[in-house]
Amino acid sequence: MFERFLQGKTAVVTGSNSGIGLGVAERLARAGADVILNSFTDSDDDHALAERLAAEHDVAVRYLQADMSRGDDCRRLIEQAGACDILVNNAGIQHVAAIPDFPAEKWDAVIAINLSSAFHTTAAALPMMRKAGWGRVINIASAHGLTASPYKSAYVAAKHGIVGLTKVTGLETAREPITCNAICPGYVLTPLVEAQIPDTMQKYDMGREEVIEKVLLERQPSKEFATTDQLGDTAVFLCSDAAAQITGTTISVDGGWTAL
Ligand code: NAD
Repeated sequence: MFERFLQGKTAVVTGSNSGIGLGVAERLARAGADVILNSFTDSDDDHALAERLAAEHDVAVRYLQADMSRGDDCRRLIEQAGACDILVNNAGIQHVAAIPDFPAEKWDAVIAINLSSAFHTTAAALPMMRKAGWGRVINIASAHGLTASPYKSAYVAAKHGIVGLTKVTGLETAREPITCNAICPGYVLTPLVEAQIPDTMQKYDMGREEVIEKVLLERQPSKEFATTDQLGDTAVFLCSDAAAQITGTTISVDGGWTAL
């Protein structure tokens, strides 16, 4: 649909050696963007992933290690990227526990990685976008940025926070050729969601398929997972001219969850 219209642009995607971040990075590369992949690890696999993406899409891809729980690392990532026309704040973790039992260090980690990292990367990237005369900030929020579930206090707080940050960033850049929007996925079957399945099976004494249908997809009326490709293509759309007047808002890709 948008064949290689992002040639000459550089996209930085945080938390992109897996799941949604990798899916978004692949679709941006397919549209011609050079890509910076990132996570907190620095393994041979991480660098091999960058080589594979570069070869498959004929674009420049670099893997840069940076820990999104640390503000200075977030800013260093953008500086080392050298250019940042498209910033995708995707890195995220989850922890599930009732509020009285929620470990304070898990609260701090979820808020740091899922919310504060986007503040730091955006602060570092906006001057580059202004200099380049064009920019897109895309925050991967969640249906949990618009609605809540019990036992996910830090995650829901961080995702509502990033929707707020999205609105402010959209307003602060409204008179410039820069937009900022949040994509709000429902459930996507990535390692983050896989990791919740065993505990949920135990908690409800259910098998895997029953957990998927009755617990995970309970609030997703389509009864289907959203896919990483669909999220990647939504990000590509937000980079297109068609989306130039879409800013400071949310796009749900949740099979109807937030319509309930
Ligand atoms: P995932 O676990 O597959 O990917 C998370 C990515 O973040 C990985 O690349 C991981 O290495 C990276 N990461 C984690 N901690 C990091 C850190 N300290 N520094 C740098 N990178 C770090 O999970 P996912 O499902 O692909 O989630 C990606 C984003 O999408 C998250 O923000 C998540 O909240 C959001 N989301 C996911 C779903 C879903 O159903 N999977 C739904 C809504 C929103």
